[in-house]
Amino acid sequence: MLRRPRPARYSETVSVRDTLGRPLRDLRVSVTDRCNFRCVYCMPKEVFGRDYRFLDRRELLSFEEIDRLARAFVAHGVEKIRITGGEPLVRRDLERLIEKLATVDGLDLTLTTNGSLLPQKAQALRDAGLRRVTVSLDSLDDDVFTALNDVDFPVERVLEGIDAAEEAGLPVKVNMVVKRGANEDSILPMARLFRERGHILRFIEYMDVGHSNGWRLDDVVPAAEIVAAIDAELPIEPAEPNYRGEVAKRWRYRDGSGEIGVIASVTQPFCGDCTRARLSAEGRLYTCLFGMRGHDLRALVRGGAADRVLHDEIGRLWGRRTDRYSEIRSANTADLPKVEMSYIGG
Ligand code: SAM
Repeated sequence: MLRRPRPARYSETVSVRDTLGRPLRDLRVSVTDRCNFRCVYCMPKEVFGRDYRFLDRRELLSFEEIDRLARAFVAHGVEKIRITGGEPLVRRDLERLIEKLATVDGLDLTLTTNGSLLPQKAQALRDAGLRRVTVSLDSLDDDVFTALNDVDFPVERVLEGIDAAEEAGLPVKVNMVVKRGANEDSILPMARLFRERGHILRFIEYMDVGHSNGWRLDDVVPAAEIVAAIDAELPIEPAEPNYRGEVAKRWRYRDGSGEIGVIASVTQPFCGDCTRARLSAEGRLYTCLFGMRGHDLRALVRGGAADRVLHDEIGRLWGRRTDRYSEIRSANTADLPKVEMSYIGG
């Protein structure tokens, strides 16, 4: 269990709860809506091509602005911050942001990346105070992986990124999105390799985020099927969650050789335990991954709002939160206008 962090600018941490009694514990911060990959399930080329209008630099929150907002969230009970995107490592000098956030006492600070830039960046991130890292990798087979990332990026270079993180002293978890007909055959080879290497591999059900990936329920490989496939070769048993609201269900190998996680947001929604807020790269607060509208915190920050005002606004927005999209998901909700994951932060 993590210690409750002591916020730097507020005299006490008051735990705010939403309308369903859920506290605010995690914050995901997107530092850019850009990415050097074009994963077909996230940023398909047909939509995110040459004509796509990404955010301008001046529209992005500066590191100082992110730091200020992050501390206001911590004062409401946030214990963990995940830096994400887009691809967070394409944001220049990201280690400067890490350095700032790392001074928040007791904060669990982590980052999700496609791993491509870790060979250049891992050591600087570690030195700046990053605690650990999650690397996304959807297959060990180059044909399968390049068909998914759609920029011809080879598996080997992601593995080099993972090595670089390890060498820098950053514990690594690996995320694999499983899409029917695309990479199911990669489940077992991935499980074997990362069990051997001692990294926790987490399987993510393909989700209907955004509106550009053409999601269909038939494309989802249910968590139960993933678990059964692994169990047949490498016997596993359920493990207790590390804390309330943990997104991944844990399974441990019966021979004691490690564990995997399964994120079943489609077939076993966990809205009831969702303690996550998301801050987009331009400073909009989303209280659900499947949100349609964000709340503009940048306007407040740039308008000269005092810390107390920022703090109260975040508390007010969380206090009126009602989101439970995954529990009410149906064939119809998939067509609702939703914000893209690359924008809101995965
Ligand atoms: N670029 C970074 C990366 O690749 O990890 C961070 C951002 S990415 C949006 C974060 C995670 O979301 C990745 O693990 C990615 O595979 C996952 N993701 C993106 N679209 C998804 C979808 N439709 N369903 C499930 N997971 C998805």
